[in-house]
Amino acid sequence: MHIPEPKLPQQGTTIFSVMSALAQRLNALNLSQGFPDFAAPPQLLEYLAKATLDGHNQYPSGDGLLKLREQVAQIFHHRDQVHLDPISEITVTAGATIALHSAIQAFVHAGDEVIVFDPSYDSYGPAIQLAQGVSKHISLKSPDFHVDWQQVKDTITSKTRMIIVNTPHNPTGAIWSKEDWQTLIELIQDTQIIVLSDEVYEHIIFDKQRHYSAFSFEALRNRSLVVGSFGKTFHVTGWKTGYCVGSSHLMQQFRQVYQFACFCGVSPVQVALSQFIEHCPEHIENLASFYQNKRDYFINGLKETSFKLKPTQGTYFQLLDYSSIRPDLSDYEMCQYLAHEYKIVTIPLSAFYKMPPQSSRLVRLCFAKKQTTLDQAIHILEKIK
Ligand code: PMP
Ligand code: GLN
Repeated sequence: MHIPEPKLPQQGTTIFSVMSALAQRLNALNLSQGFPDFAAPPQLLEYLAKATLDGHNQYPSGDGLLKLREQVAQIFHHRDQVHLDPISEITVTAGATIALHSAIQAFVHAGDEVIVFDPSYDSYGPAIQLAQGVSKHISLKSPDFHVDWQQVKDTITSKTRMIIVNTPHNPTGAIWSKEDWQTLIELIQDTQIIVLSDEVYEHIIFDKQRHYSAFSFEALRNRSLVVGSFGKTFHVTGWKTGYCVGSSHLMQQFRQVYQFACFCGVSPVQVALSQFIEHCPEHIENLASFYQNKRDYFINGLKETSFKLKPTQGTYFQLLDYSSIRPDLSDYEMCQYLAHEYKIVTIPLSAFYKMPPQSSRLVRLCFAKKQTTLDQAIHILEKIK
């Protein structure tokens, strides 16, 4: 049989699967793929067990459990003073990835251009390609990975259909300020551009800074889709449950695609999350300080090492600059070196670029880890000169 041309010819296996498999194979410390190595809140696990025993085991509503959607609406209302209609403006999805994918398939037509800021999360590019869109990659500017707004202005054309934003940002930990959003609003006000805002780390933001959602801006509410992930917020990445928010005219089109991509999410998980949000609202309130403590513990421990780093402002990722240790190695080579020689697995920053900068000497580490894991990592990294 003749095997048809692949639809994603340049895409191999995702870097997250590759590096986690390497960690397993080498029995090495895995700080590559982003997931907590500590348990989820026990009460949440009990709610899940109870939800299955109580019979929440058949298809839930395709749009998601209404109570959970109402809770998402409350969170947005409390933070962004926006009134969302849970019935027509919120969909609970089987994770953020399928929400992003569905949004891109729903709105990007063949030949449409989509602006993506690199380094970017690895699912955006392939989703655009499957929609036969054209991704226009703009590199964030070092050292703090800010947006070059002149470049955005120069990249927008009559074909630009969508701009993908990610704040707090994976993999750099940068966040968008109010001024960033206001500049975006000015640039797109006379266009038909849709903003797809990936806000999966919305509650993981540090140093008393606030998260600005696309929905905090009146001017963006009719043209934005915001995607979130309960996996990040509740330490359950394997539960693959997220949401998408958008005004009803956009949501209608989003749902047309999502219903055939997935139909619905996982029923008992939605019940458990909803009960946990109701009974333990402090979990979300405390999440930023929970992860800020981890970040501070980690970067303090790394002070005496030869790596250079600056505090991340949000997410649970930290970039390490190894240019004073092995400037001769590319970041892919450095990750292999660290894995094989030191038994610690990380992610090369280049993996998040369409056109990686040759000079990049940065690797990403995930600090959503138990203190003992962070201690082990610090102990290993101290030895690398
Ligand atoms: N967007 C970003 C920026 C992420 O880091 C992740 C991480 N997994 C996702 C989307 C996907 O989230 P989910 O696991 O809920 O699909
Ligand atoms: N978002 C996680 C990360 O950046 C991984 C998700 C995945 O493995 N697809 O590491």
